Amino acid sequence: MVGSKFCKTRQNFLILFLSFIFISCSAQEVSNQTSEVKESFKWRMVTTWPKNYPGVGLGAENLAKLVDEMSDGRLQIKVYGNGELVPALEVFDTVSRGSVEMGHGAAYYWIGKVPAAQFFTAIPFGLNAQEMNAWLHYGGGQELWEELYEPFNLIPLAGGNTGVQMAGWFNKEINSLEDLKGIRMRIPGLAGKVFTRAGGEAVLMPGSEIFTNLQTGVIDAAEWIGPYNDLTFGFHQAAKYYYYPGWHEPGPTLETIINKEAYDSLPKDLQVILKTASRAINQDMLDEYTSRNNQALISLVNDHNVELRKLPNDVLTEFKRITEELLVELTQQDESSKKVYESISNFQKNVSQYHEISEEAIYELR
Ligand code: CA
Repeated sequence: MVGSKFCKTRQNFLILFLSFIFISCSAQEVSNQTSEVKESFKWRMVTTWPKNYPGVGLGAENLAKLVDEMSDGRLQIKVYGNGELVPALEVFDTVSRGSVEMGHGAAYYWIGKVPAAQFFTAIPFGLNAQEMNAWLHYGGGQELWEELYEPFNLIPLAGGNTGVQMAGWFNKEINSLEDLKGIRMRIPGLAGKVFTRAGGEAVLMPGSEIFTNLQTGVIDAAEWIGPYNDLTFGFHQAAKYYYYPGWHEPGPTLETIINKEAYDSLPKDLQVILKTASRAINQDMLDEYTSRNNQALISLVNDHNVELRKLPNDVLTEFKRITEELLVELTQQDESSKKVYESISNFQKNVSQYHEISEEAIYELR
């Protein structure tokens, strides 16, 4: 009896022990799965835009939101506007040294440090938005961009496009080249150099500083983006004449920059999510500008009595001549600019040939 009781107790103990092992293993498995699911990252993104600014600024916000949703909250990115963490023109350095993981802005703001960067935003009389996307993603542009930013510990991605911009706001009429003399204009990148060589004076400043400087006469003219954004900044209250076409920025690409070490620390799926979300935002922004610009232009002209003007042909011809002159000089001085320019200009020649009989032919017909 004692023996049988002992056996039964031993049997119960064994069952209990095995159950314990089974439950422990299952719990371990669940815990492993749970810890994998819960692996999450909290990042920061500094931008060159005013916080929640329509179009370009909300592009950065939309990118963060999309990454959050696509990753089910595993990669959360807090977005900072110009000046919240760092001033606009320090975004590149801040992400480069890894103080924050990401940035959003425009590559041509960094030409003082990386002259060839401007090719990845826009060059005067260059590619439009559709062509920029084609060059970057199917024409070797992305690879060249990565090579250019590699020494700065940065991974660049196309992060938006505004489409063809406006030539800008002027507080006096431009009827000839003579009228450009002495005009101080906010105009970044290579276009700024063109403007200066044509007799004006280019000034670089972030968007948020344009209005006050234009209104107080610190500058006489400014380019920003196009009707949708220019209306929100109220430039029509500071300058009367609104000029087209945006010779200087036919399809400017914005950039998302990611610190290389931060990127490498992510699991593969989050890396893909980041790249895919940036690509989606790149297209989404262009769609928004394409949809909203004309409504805003109608409001500027009809409700705010803005004088819409086309830049005179001789001014545009001179801008183009100087652009070509400066590009020759730039490619002689800087090896990276030479390499990127050769790629982009060959691409432009090639794509233009087909666009003459496709896009342009349709524009003429409709
Ligand atoms: Ca612009």
